[in-house]
Amino acid sequence: MKQYVYAFREGSSEMKPLLGGKGANLAEMTRIGLPVPGGFTITTEACIEYYEQGNMIWDDLRQQIGQKLSEMETEMGHQLGEVKNPLLVSVRSGAVVSMPGMMDTILNLGLNDETVQGLANTSGNQRFAFDSYRRLIQMFGDVVLEIPKYKFDSLLEKKKTEKGAASDTDLVAEDFMDLVEAFKKVVQKETRKPFPQDPQVQLMMAVEAVFKSWNNPRARVYREHNDISHHLGTAVNIQVMVFGNMGNDSGTGVAFTRNPSTGENKLYGEFLVNAQGEDVVAGIRTPKDIEEMKNLLPEAYQQFKEVAQLLEKHYRDMQDIEFTVNRGKLFMLQTRTGKRTAQAAIQVAVDMVEEGLITKEEAVLRMNPSDLDQLLHPTFDEKALEEAALITKGLPASSGAACGKIYFTPEEAVNAHARGEIVILVRNETSPEDIEGMVASAGILTAKGGMTSHAAVVARGMGKCCVSGAGELNISEQEKTMKIEAISLTEGDFISLDGNTGCVYHGKIATREARLGGRFVTLMEWADDLRKLKVRTNADTPRDSAKAVEFGAEGIGLCRTEHMFFEENRIAVMRRMILSRTEDARRKALAELMPMQRDDFVAIFKVMGDRPVTIRLLDPPLHEFLPTAEADIQRLAGELDVSVSQLKETVRELAEVNPMLGHRGCRLAVTYPEIYEMQVQAIMEAATQLKREGHHVIPEIMIPLIGEIKELQYVKELVLKVIRQVGNDTGETVPYLIGTMIEIPRAAITADDIAKEAEFFSFGTNDLTQMTYGFSRDDAGKFIKEYRDKGILEKDPFQQIDRRGVGELMKTAVKLGLESRSDLKLGICGEHGGDPSSVEFCHLLGLDYVSCSPFRVPIARLAAAQAAIRYPS
Ligand code: ADP
Ligand code: MG
Ligand code: MG
Repeated sequence: MKQYVYAFREGSSEMKPLLGGKGANLAEMTRIGLPVPGGFTITTEACIEYYEQGNMIWDDLRQQIGQKLSEMETEMGHQLGEVKNPLLVSVRSGAVVSMPGMMDTILNLGLNDETVQGLANTSGNQRFAFDSYRRLIQMFGDVVLEIPKYKFDSLLEKKKTEKGAASDTDLVAEDFMDLVEAFKKVVQKETRKPFPQDPQVQLMMAVEAVFKSWNNPRARVYREHNDISHHLGTAVNIQVMVFGNMGNDSGTGVAFTRNPSTGENKLYGEFLVNAQGEDVVAGIRTPKDIEEMKNLLPEAYQQFKEVAQLLEKHYRDMQDIEFTVNRGKLFMLQTRTGKRTAQAAIQVAVDMVEEGLITKEEAVLRMNPSDLDQLLHPTFDEKALEEAALITKGLPASSGAACGKIYFTPEEAVNAHARGEIVILVRNETSPEDIEGMVASAGILTAKGGMTSHAAVVARGMGKCCVSGAGELNISEQEKTMKIEAISLTEGDFISLDGNTGCVYHGKIATREARLGGRFVTLMEWADDLRKLKVRTNADTPRDSAKAVEFGAEGIGLCRTEHMFFEENRIAVMRRMILSRTEDARRKALAELMPMQRDDFVAIFKVMGDRPVTIRLLDPPLHEFLPTAEADIQRLAGELDVSVSQLKETVRELAEVNPMLGHRGCRLAVTYPEIYEMQVQAIMEAATQLKREGHHVIPEIMIPLIGEIKELQYVKELVLKVIRQVGNDTGETVPYLIGTMIEIPRAAITADDIAKEAEFFSFGTNDLTQMTYGFSRDDAGKFIKEYRDKGILEKDPFQQIDRRGVGELMKTAVKLGLESRSDLKLGICGEHGGDPSSVEFCHLLGLDYVSCSPFRVPIARLAAAQAAIRYPS
């Protein structure tokens, strides 16, 4: 027969999946001899079985509970329901993954009209006995009978007012007797049944209530928020009561072995005298600093301090501990790994290595890479956030916090920024046209677009906060308003964006700047020693490149050249080039662009020093550079001296039904070779200049969107021709590499051919995912959420590499590529390069490097180290 119930002394911390976190740790503390009130745990399997049986406690389970209860009664020397000297218990939930405050606890179970007298007599303390009884009715009423809490709370408040009592410690025995009667009436009225007097009945009802609490709405919401499965179930712990409400020699408290917010190695916590259970956290009375316990209960304090240290050593991590002092005697009621801020996590991990408690590998493994984000960007002050007015929620597209005045066009954003205002750019969606407005803004909010939309990608690159896809917003760029239900905001109003959660707030919220202390550097150095993957960055300006180097980037994995054409003095030339009717006219415009582009490369090469730089030749379809708004078209027609209708006609001709699969990438070079010729000339001249200045630059020229080897052969020939030309003109030879992106499934499958011509591969996993799934990057946001809600997709494949599909193609490309060229350089430059799980996958594939936006570089460094520890080669 299956064992569904375990005494604390039968368990250990190893049995977490079965006993839940709380049960397993109570067992562990019992096992190592700490003062834990006796008890037993009903397993998570029993909870799952309970649901499978159609919400029923079956006979066998009932018997096993009865068996453990009577063993416990024998040990304690008295019994549940014993009139003269009753045994009381608590019934506590405890899931496998800790869900603080999400489920329910019942204390003082076993009290009824008779046993309360017994308790009063044996303890010699009437007040305590009736206080405990009213607490039972209150908690049982709330958790088991589902009577609204306020019905009890308001009676307690009334009593306090009547008596002029500031706190419930000022109430006396008779007051609690009155309350017991009043509470029983509430139960009778609300449930049409008296408060259950039989302790055995109380116990079974309480166990069922805990099982059921696993599925209460707040628990479900919490699990969804934290990616915890709904099928784990919760354990139930039944434990002998100890009492912190026995008088001034008793109390209850909660403490962390170190400061969970800063990481400082000092006991941190709160304590209340003559109190029980949740009083400390419930806010009824203001708890005291744990330090004060030293004066109030010196012996128990000393003992607690020792136990806290022992627990930390035992678990080798910071602990979050609950305890009670019963007439001077200390009892441990819970311990678990303490939740902490990213800053505290770093401090604790590094300190523990220095204290010899854990290894460097463990320290590196303990940090959640994504949490580093909190440290690199400004964040909202937590207290201020609690009081903020939420307007709506979109996607957390780029981390950080921003608070400023809203503007609806890039021009107005630029102007407001010039006036010294802090700007939030609000758009339905952004396009490359908006770049300057985005640069001028502290944050970006869009109604449309997903995590890989233009706004999201660009904002991440710039390290700017961005909330995208806030679909409930009604944005009118013309009227300069954003509306949602009753709220209507116009230009110049203040909002606050939280890029970590996607929340949009009304008004100003105070922010805190990022702080990168010495311990951060130490931890990252350990990570660097451990990792195999190199980490590069996606950057196309000297400023982003410098930021990335500061964050530890070892090169540029993707320098997009298209953004360089959007600056004010360039876009006009670019447009003239695009709208040229003859090759001659096109070459003329390109000749104007060449020196500008060359200077960009010179500046970036200088920042990067001897680090490798991969430059991608022009990739987006040309019409992305053309204006769409009527006013812009008119202005451009004037500049180019063509009629508006003629210009519109050309714009229409260039528009594509499906631009993502259209005339872009290397296809542009097949039609207009002169574009890539200009770019290669700019790259090679820049490299030559640096060589003459004594630097050692090896540009990596990357050709995008190859699907067919002959495409690559054609474009490569053209690239080589220009390289030779520059060599002849300058009389210098500069080393270089020519490679390609692998972003079309056909390229992955024919990678053996491709590698004959390419010296490196860089996986463009945004496009590769788009084309493998057939999901449009720009439209998938609309349905991927639905897919996730319905369990069709577990993760958004644009955020985390789909190992089964996209990953399989990558694997094939790596294998075939290396067969043709054993020294093929392999990297990834899609957005996935900054996602920890995807970085791990790249490590497993044996790539040479990952490349990600500057602000994700530290995350990738840490994730790469974790992958190397978990999967040593
Ligand atoms: P949560 O999971 O919400 O922390 P717990 O099961 O830990 O809930 O119970 C909340 C509090 O109730 C504990 O911190 C402790 O103060 C009190 N409590 C629980 N069991 C007992 C017990 N056997 N004796 C005394 N107090 C208890
Ligand atoms: Mg607890
Ligand atoms: Mg691409």
